[in-house]
Amino acid sequence: MSTADTIAGRDLAALRAAVAGPVSVPGDAGYDQARQAWNLVADQRPAVVVEAGSADDVAQAVRYARARGMRIAPQGTGHGAEPLEPLDGAMLLRTTRMRQVRIDPAARTARAEAGAVWADVIAPAADHGLAGLAGSSPGVGVAGYTLGGGMGWLARRYGLAASSVTAAELVTPNGELVRADEGHEPELLWAIRGGGGSVGVLTALEMRLYPVRELYAGALFFPMARAADVLHAWRAWTATVPDEVTSMTHLLRFPPLPELPEPLRGQAFAVIEAAYLGDAGAGAELIAPLRALGPDRDTFAMIPAAALGQLNMDPDQPVPTRGDGTLVADLPPAAIDALAAVAGPDAGTALATVEVRHLGGALARPAAGGGAQPSLAASYMIFAAGFAPTPDAAAAAAAQAQAVKDALAPWHAGYDYYNFAETPAAASAVLPPASWQRLQQIKTSYDPDRVIISAHPVRPDRP
Ligand SMILES: Cc1cc2nc3c(=O)[nH]c(=O)nc-3n(C[C@H](O)[C@H](O)[C@H](O)COP(=O)(O)OP(=O)(O)OC[C@H]3O[C@@H](n4cnc5c(N)ncnc54)[C@H](O)[C@@H]3O)c2cc1C
Repeated sequence: MSTADTIAGRDLAALRAAVAGPVSVPGDAGYDQARQAWNLVADQRPAVVVEAGSADDVAQAVRYARARGMRIAPQGTGHGAEPLEPLDGAMLLRTTRMRQVRIDPAARTARAEAGAVWADVIAPAADHGLAGLAGSSPGVGVAGYTLGGGMGWLARRYGLAASSVTAAELVTPNGELVRADEGHEPELLWAIRGGGGSVGVLTALEMRLYPVRELYAGALFFPMARAADVLHAWRAWTATVPDEVTSMTHLLRFPPLPELPEPLRGQAFAVIEAAYLGDAGAGAELIAPLRALGPDRDTFAMIPAAALGQLNMDPDQPVPTRGDGTLVADLPPAAIDALAAVAGPDAGTALATVEVRHLGGALARPAAGGGAQPSLAASYMIFAAGFAPTPDAAAAAAAQAQAVKDALAPWHAGYDYYNFAETPAAASAVLPPASWQRLQQIKTSYDPDRVIISAHPVRPDRP
């Protein structure tokens, strides 16, 4: 008998009575929509989907699953659905209905429920001249992004988002709603600060915000044919910039879709994107060496912090995509040549996006009171992905992303960045060794039976 069968009838009625949000099982009209992740490549087929409406719903759902020996996969948007363990027989516990955000302008903090996306934080924080440490896409979930570290446009100045978490509310695998902050459950707080979502189901996060109203930011577009030169010049420039500058080179191939604006549709570019926490005069001086390369298009200007979400041109609607990322200790000219060979104009690749993000600055300095990812011991992060509307396209994108990783293997930093590692991997492959070993001990204390399913699982430390 399958788990779906075991939760039919009276048992299912008990679950529906216990939680206020919708509950769907295979065969229900709402099941397909409820199980759908943002990444349309992920074909999630859990035994039951619970769309929690509150922390109490989460606790009830966890207790229900626990009592029936069912594993639980917490999920918000499903941007990070690709590396998840299989969901056979499991409960997919979605928090998408829990999107309340409260800003405390005096304390410069935000409290976001576990289903909030960054757009839900960015707008109300901006009303007070504040910004959170969002990533490049405002549609990404605050919870999953922060649990995996969280690097955005303010990263070299303010570090990983995980290090700005001040408190978390979560339901432990025992079904108990607890608060983890400086004075309570310090091990859980440590795990949540970058160790992924394997120790419980988050219901809310509290985090520091920063006084950022405007920045000098934009993009320089070059033809893809100039990718190698652009990468070399940008790499040399990154060695000269202060922590107030966070930047990347982005090799972009736009599909020939009618909804894209004419200058981008079907075109390929090498783009340098940067955000500078400062004024236009100093910003223009800083990027002068890049402007001297003669871009075809230059969008640098003072912009509101809330507009940073458009800078990277990430897809704002669900798409099928497959990719992977890696961290490199350095990116010498030979590494750039290797990257250009597999991702540049002559590579014959269909990769829609290849990002090379500059790390260092605050990302390299262990945060005071930091957790499982207190810093990133790497100089650059590379992420490559392609659209995957068919199984063949998905296989090609996966192979081409792997080729990028292989080409950079000689400069590998020793582990990959949790959030951009989209191939299923153990926690040991995406966290520094000391971190995953401590995380393993915490998992053993809080979830010895591996009830919680997460990306990049950490296994309890037991024979
Ligand atoms: C377009 C795009 C842009 C991105 N840009 C950036 C970027 O700039 N910087 C960056 O660092 N990353 C970035 N990412 C990666 C992103 O941070 C990860 O995919 C992250 O996992 C997404 O979090 P989510 O909550 O939206 O996704 P989900 O798939 O909902 O969650 C991912 C994982 O987080 C855990 N999780 C989520 N909610 C909970 C919860 N309530 N309790 C316990 N565990 C939970 C689970 O393990 C879950 O599998 C980007 C991804 C995409 C697709």
